[in-house]
Amino acid sequence: MVELDWKNLPFGYIKTDFNVRCTYKDGKWGELEVSDSEYFPIHIAATALHYGQEAFEGMKAYRGKDGKVRLFRWDENAKRMQRSAEGILMAKIPDHLFHDAVVKAVKLNEKFVPPYGTGASLYIRPLLFGSGAEVGVRPAKEYTFIIFVTPVGPYFKEGFNPVRIAIVRDSDRAAPLGTGTLKVGGNYAASLRGVERAHKAGYGSPMYLDAKEKKYIDEIGAANFFGVKNNTYITPKSESILPSITNMSLIQLAQDLGLKVERRPIAEDELSSFEEVGACGTAAVISPIGEIADLDSGKVYQYCKNGKPGPISTKLYETLVGIQYGDVEDRHSWVTIIE
Ligand SMILES: *Cc1c(COP(=O)(O)O)cnc(C)c1O
Repeated sequence: MVELDWKNLPFGYIKTDFNVRCTYKDGKWGELEVSDSEYFPIHIAATALHYGQEAFEGMKAYRGKDGKVRLFRWDENAKRMQRSAEGILMAKIPDHLFHDAVVKAVKLNEKFVPPYGTGASLYIRPLLFGSGAEVGVRPAKEYTFIIFVTPVGPYFKEGFNPVRIAIVRDSDRAAPLGTGTLKVGGNYAASLRGVERAHKAGYGSPMYLDAKEKKYIDEIGAANFFGVKNNTYITPKSESILPSITNMSLIQLAQDLGLKVERRPIAEDELSSFEEVGACGTAAVISPIGEIADLDSGKVYQYCKNGKPGPISTKLYETLVGIQYGDVEDRHSWVTIIE
């Protein structure tokens, strides 16, 4: 294992030893290649650069108490990347190629998988983009698939503590029939103004409302939203949010705990009635929310009045993290041990 200050790792990029790459050409994927370079030579007319023909994924590898390295629901990331590829007309990556590339990238960099008990993990970033040259707006004929990994600390430095969120109304990250349901780069460029506005106002992340009516909750930064009340887990149904694998897993765990689950539009007004609210995604699992402020109307919604996350969020968080690190029984076969 390399010597790193595991407990104080940022959520940022740290160089590892290798990345893996694969090229799609003449209608088929080639062999996986290993590189020790952090750079990639790219054609100046590649569709990714001009027209944003690009999609990515985010997942993690976790080291358990037994020293073994685990992946969490990698097949769902593979499926989602296939949906992203379909959505912007890119070549799809077959499951077996996605799997082999992830395993290879993790194994080659095994010494960067943080030790058990540090709260850190190895972040895995698969990337697919149009690398073929075109000048007109049309799909490329060549694609490149790259996976790099980087060790990361817990997403929120403060740990499992309430965060503050700002509703922004002067920018949208995605339109209802646009690309919001896909993990494609353009959505994140479109979200940057909202992120900056929230930060400048002193909040951790922006909350986006639906672009059409500005009435319903869409997402929080690059995380899904959920609320809990009356023993029910409620999460938005919308045509412009990214289907989070963490949220999908929390829905299952909430049902296992005996909660009801509702997926439906959630109007901003309803925020005042929730007992607990949170943001969820791979990076932080759950970020419990202490405050949501509507920057334009001046309304403020408050939670966690004792300064602590609510009991259901805490239980869901501990169960999911426990499964990922191998401490809690994996009843739904979500975990793959890398041999
Ligand atoms: C990646 C992402 C999420 C979280 O998805 P997970 O699969 O749980 O990591 C949520 N919203 C957006 C916009 C995302 O990009």
